[in-house]
Amino acid sequence: MTILGATGSVGTSTLDVIARHPDRYEVFALTAATRVDELAAQCLRFQPRFAVMADERAARGLASRLEAAQLSTRVLSGPQALDEVAAHPDVDAVMAAIVGAAGLASCLAAAAAGKRLLLANKEALVVGGALFMETVRRGGATLLPIDSEHSAIFQCLPEDPASWPQRVERLILTASGGPFRGRDPSTLSDVTPDQACAHPNWVMGRKISVDSATMMNKALEVIEARHLFGLPPSRIEVTLHPQSVIHSMVEFIDGSVLAQLGTPDMRVPIACGLAWPERVESGSQRLDFRQLASLTFEEADERRFPGLKLAWQVLEAAPGTPAVLNAANEVAVAAFLDGRLRFDRIHAVNVETLDRVRPSKAQSLADLLDLDAQARRAAELAVGRMAS
Ligand code: NAD
Ligand code: MG
Repeated sequence: MTILGATGSVGTSTLDVIARHPDRYEVFALTAATRVDELAAQCLRFQPRFAVMADERAARGLASRLEAAQLSTRVLSGPQALDEVAAHPDVDAVMAAIVGAAGLASCLAAAAAGKRLLLANKEALVVGGALFMETVRRGGATLLPIDSEHSAIFQCLPEDPASWPQRVERLILTASGGPFRGRDPSTLSDVTPDQACAHPNWVMGRKISVDSATMMNKALEVIEARHLFGLPPSRIEVTLHPQSVIHSMVEFIDGSVLAQLGTPDMRVPIACGLAWPERVESGSQRLDFRQLASLTFEEADERRFPGLKLAWQVLEAAPGTPAVLNAANEVAVAAFLDGRLRFDRIHAVNVETLDRVRPSKAQSLADLLDLDAQARRAAELAVGRMAS
């Protein structure tokens, strides 16, 4: 299989699960943006046929390292190479674990080539939307959600997708509320990136950690659920569940609710996606019900998490609007992590960008990438103004 974004949090968890089943999975290609040391170490361990670095200089560094180690792995670079290892005829499964819209093209390449596509990269689906799902359908690909909430819902749903609209009443996504769940929103102006990334239950990459603190992560997940499961946005809900034990739920029209539970460890949904419909050992700790004091639920506070409701707004707006929101949020989060934007202004950048960039065309990949670029420019301007 190919692992896009192998050096990240989901990428390394994927390799951890794969390493437990050497008879079952073979690594064909590993990719990363810039981290040469990490990718070199992974190549030495898993001996893939290809290694791709998004950055060309990094690729040269990796190539000389692998040569010195007398490894036959071929090193490629650039976005085209990502598409190639995602769609290569010798690959049957692709883990999409790049962060952000940067992963869209390689997801589409894997989908068009009919791969078994394990999707962690939610931004790719938020931006790609209908085009993404249509590419999966036409390519004959199998799309398996890796995001823990969507994996939970997928596991609770009946096998036949055609039956979902008639049988399912609501999808209920759970959210931990992140590190600032109990905080007064007026105290969020001077939080640091490290505070925002200190998630109470999950260890993740920095972008998704900030998204969890603003709950933009849940907004992106509502959009993701809308595309994956085809139910109208009005039948998708979010509830806060601080313990992150129930990963999401499906309510059926007869009032029966199915939930999926587990310890918060991405290796569980990753193993589920890798083996589905079979099951393999993931290496995760088991839930100990004697130690579970209580499972609690509460409503998300709109004042503390103003970004959450943007999900339903952009889903009802012109096609392409979710791509604008995603790009704005990527820019705002990067600016926050760089120390150029206050945490409590991320939402303002998103709202202002949505106001300025109104999509008129969102059919092709080129349209979506154009919208993405426009929104990034508008968001940078907003960041610049808010920083000064
Ligand atoms: P991360 O930052 O830890 O890793 C990102 C990976 O993508 C790295 O390997 C990096 O080298 C690569 N990458 C970054 N920018 C790139 C670019 N421009 N071109 C090519 N490669 C690039 O991120 P993560 O936390 O592993 O998250 C990955 C994706 O999975 C995100 O979309 C995130 O929302 C989703 N996800 C993550 C978790 C989690 O627990 N970490 C859970 C659910 C969903
Ligand atoms: Mg999630």
